[in-house]
Amino acid sequence: MVPQTVDPGVVARIVTDVYELCRGDDSGELADYIPELAAVQPDSFGLCLATADGRVYGTGDVTTEFTIQSISKPFTYALALADRGIATVAEHIDVEPSGDAFNEISLDPVTERPRNPMINAGAITAAALVNGRDPTDRFERIRRCYSRFAGRELTMNQAVYASEARTGFRNRAIGYMLRSFGIIESDPDEAVDRYFRQCSIDVTCRDLALMAATLANNGLNPLTHERALTAALTERVLSVMTTCGMYNAAGDWVTTVGLPAKSGVGGGILAVLPGQIGIAVYSPRLDTHGNSVRGVAACRALSQRLELHFLHVTRSARTAIRAAYTVAEV
Ligand code: GLU
Repeated sequence: MVPQTVDPGVVARIVTDVYELCRGDDSGELADYIPELAAVQPDSFGLCLATADGRVYGTGDVTTEFTIQSISKPFTYALALADRGIATVAEHIDVEPSGDAFNEISLDPVTERPRNPMINAGAITAAALVNGRDPTDRFERIRRCYSRFAGRELTMNQAVYASEARTGFRNRAIGYMLRSFGIIESDPDEAVDRYFRQCSIDVTCRDLALMAATLANNGLNPLTHERALTAALTERVLSVMTTCGMYNAAGDWVTTVGLPAKSGVGGGILAVLPGQIGIAVYSPRLDTHGNSVRGVAACRALSQRLELHFLHVTRSARTAIRAAYTVAEV
């Protein structure tokens, strides 16, 4: 938690400084493999930080809506875990980093399962595992789940969904592969359609910061006080984000930023310091890995300035075992 004694102006100033530091970088390219994704304002840039006790600091385009895309993956995985339990989900999706492209049409050669829920094969499987009466109800449960994390009713962007549904042949191929290996037992078209819909949910940078803060707060939304996920499942989701959340830049991200995170081709990045802070950045120009250029730079700078790296040991840290005595000494 940001200590009570800290002037909130200090954090706000650091957020503004980092924003100014990264604003001039207009390198990178918009994602254009879904036609509608290339229709966004390329210069948009928002940076938002929310604490696990619900203070929000934001600057720039924090209320601009964009589609959540792959940042949806940890949240649908969370819902599948809550619906089916860890053991059943683990029979369908592994938790190993893949090293492959996010949309690789492959399974682990030994387990014949998707390697993790952050690549498309695992994400489509997670979407297939979500409970519900019918396809409409299953998507509605996903939408409501994300809304609980964000603390407001989120909606789907019809144009982006239609664009992806029209062009998403590779994801359909993944769906059919999953069905042929028995990973998905239901209609693969239905699972893939649900995945397209979840990727097309509109969020703002502020929404993502609150979704991150809810993860930081053990699954409890710090503003609405609604429980979005149990603490045990939050830990599992954050673990997978740590090892698999940043496409094939996960190793570089962990060493230079050191926060469980997930990014999406819509230009969003969500990062979490468990117990303390959620960070979100929106800037749609992407690097070669598919991560927001300014997003990565801003998270790096924030992590350094606020000492957020999860392996950073602060001077005030103490070991869990403070002292050891024998009975005789006592
Ligand atoms: N809808 C996108 C896809 O699966 C999400 C990609 C992403 O954000 O990585 O192609």
